Amino acid sequence: MYLDSHCHLSFPGLHERLPDIVAAMRAARVSRAITICTTLEEFDAVQAIAAGHPDIWCTVGVHPDNEGVREPQLDELVALAARERVVAIGETGLDYYRLGTRSVADMAWQRERFAVHIRAARATGLPLVVHTRSASEDTLAILRDEGQGQVRGVFHCFTETQAVADAALSLGFHISFSGILTFRNAAELREVARRVPLERCLIETDSPYLAPVPYRGKPNQPAYVPHGAAALAELQGLPVDRVAEATRRNAEQLFGLPEEAPTC
Ligand SMILES: [Zn+2]
Ligand SMILES: [Zn+2]
Repeated sequence: MYLDSHCHLSFPGLHERLPDIVAAMRAARVSRAITICTTLEEFDAVQAIAAGHPDIWCTVGVHPDNEGVREPQLDELVALAARERVVAIGETGLDYYRLGTRSVADMAWQRERFAVHIRAARATGLPLVVHTRSASEDTLAILRDEGQGQVRGVFHCFTETQAVADAALSLGFHISFSGILTFRNAAELREVARRVPLERCLIETDSPYLAPVPYRGKPNQPAYVPHGAAALAELQGLPVDRVAEATRRNAEQLFGLPEEAPTC
């Protein structure tokens, strides 16, 4: 059985088809999923999905790309994190990919938002779901400064270098691989995935984005998580069932989910 550690079931393309999406997930042996919050405005919808499904959990946080949305305060994040089925803080982090005409110096608001999330993770003891793009140095520096070695979590949808993977692992973080592992142009990432110890790997879809081969260009969904897992298994020279089992257990431990009874 697989676990999709990062999907966005509240997003258009998935939300309105939720019964079908959940049925497809079960048919594909994806027994559990974490649906990820990206704005405070959508949190109620995200949490309602988790509360309505015994095999889905959720997070609370504001994505670094989201501008013109309500800015999270520490107290509010801590309060929302206490709601049922919330198992992590995020997704949060830094994204300098869409700077446009701005400079890195202009992105102080992103760094401050990230710091608030890290403080919330420390205050609640919950793991952090980290998004980083074109900003790995600042992401790691802020995690070190604000985390003080007391925050665990995951670098989700990992697309960074071996050096960044090593730094994340040494901070005690997990690395989550998506269907990008199946993309033809992802040779460098596959080399990284080959070397991350299985006990620190998670697997995710980041659906509705990033559909794996052979679904590229179509909407992604949690039922496709086995494709990324198969790619990781091939890279690590392991049977896919072993990768499915290990990544599911890693996620269950990180997010504090009840253990699932083993199936035959
Ligand atoms: Zn992300
Ligand atoms: Zn995401």
